[in-house]
Amino acid sequence: MTRPDVPIPESPQPPFPVEEHNVTVIAGFGRGSAELGIPTANISTKEVKQVTQLDPGVYFGWVKLHKKQDATHSDIKERESGKQVEYSYGLGLEEGKDLEVVLPTVMSIGWNPFYGNKEKAIELHIVHQFPKDFYGATVCFNVLGYIRPELNYTTKEALIKDIQTDIEIGIQTLNTPQYQKYKRL
Ligand code: ADP
Ligand code: MG
Repeated sequence: MTRPDVPIPESPQPPFPVEEHNVTVIAGFGRGSAELGIPTANISTKEVKQVTQLDPGVYFGWVKLHKKQDATHSDIKERESGKQVEYSYGLGLEEGKDLEVVLPTVMSIGWNPFYGNKEKAIELHIVHQFPKDFYGATVCFNVLGYIRPELNYTTKEALIKDIQTDIEIGIQTLNTPQYQKYKRL
C-alpha cells in the first residue's frame, strides 16, 4: 500500500494539542531497535487518557523525558517474551541534554498484537541520540498532528523508508512557528 497524501495544517487543529504527563516508559517486544534500527519508547496505555482515544496511525509532537523520582539504581526485569531488560529509570542520562529538554517525537498508535489486538500500543520515537536506554523513566508529551494511517507492509525496507519519511515530516512541521509555540511541557 502506498502512503496517502495527508495535508498538514499550518497550525494544530482540534482535537490537538493533546497532552499527557508523567507516563512511564515500559518494555515491549524489543523489536524496534533490533529489527528496524528505530527505537520506540512504549508507554503504559493505562497511564494515558486522551491519547488512547486517537485513531490508529502516526502522529508527531514534542516530548520531555524525566528521570524517575528517587531512582538510585537499575533493576533487571522480564519482558513479555521472557527476555531480560534493564530498567535504568533515566539514570546515566544527562540533565539539560537528554533529560528535561523538549525534543521532537514521531508517535505510532496501533493495536498491540500481543494482547490479541485488544489493547492499544503507544510508541514514541524521540528524535535524539541517547547515550543509553531509559526504561522506567517518565515522559511528558503533546500530540500536535496526524501524519498517516497505519499501513501494512510487505517488506521491512518499505516500512523503514516510510518511518524515515514520517520523521522528516514531523521535524519539518515542528520547526514552523505555529508548532514551535507548543515547544513547552
Ligand atoms: P521496546 O519494544 O521494549 O519498546 P525498542 O526496540 O522499541 O524496544 O526500544 C525502545 C527503547 O529504546 C526505549 O524504551 C528507550 O529506553 C530506548 N531508546 C533509545 N533511544 C531512543 C529514542 N531515540 N527514542 C525512543 N526510545 C529510545
Ligand atoms: Mg518500542
